[in-house]
Amino acid sequence: MTYLAPVNINIDEKTIGTVDVWRCASCKRKFCEEKQLGIESISEIVGMPRIGDDEKWGVIVSKIQKGKDKWKLVRLKQNGIIKYETADEKILDLKIEDYKIVDDFHTSFLVEDHLNRAVEI
Ligand SMILES: [Zn+2]
Repeated sequence: MTYLAPVNINIDEKTIGTVDVWRCASCKRKFCEEKQLGIESISEIVGMPRIGDDEKWGVIVSKIQKGKDKWKLVRLKQNGIIKYETADEKILDLKIEDYKIVDDFHTSFLVEDHLNRAVEI
């Protein structure tokens, strides 16, 4: 596993979190880890979640929540529905079209499109 790049998550030009992106040398799959600023990482590389061949790493952004609750690292399929747990522990069914959330109150972006960059949310 080699470290590939970070994607910084910004609010008002201030970085509030990071997605660290790693790549497996043998299968070339990417693994991502969500880091909230000021909170120690709890996952180890060995415990990184698997990602399916039909999935991509993405970040869901809430238009309602604020601060650290405004974003979450997820695995997006190309199309379908994702069960999304909000900060107040409600489960929402969000629609995905072409690896993007289609919803009035949520949006998303793909991690692979923003390597080594900051994304303003
Ligand atoms: Zn691998």
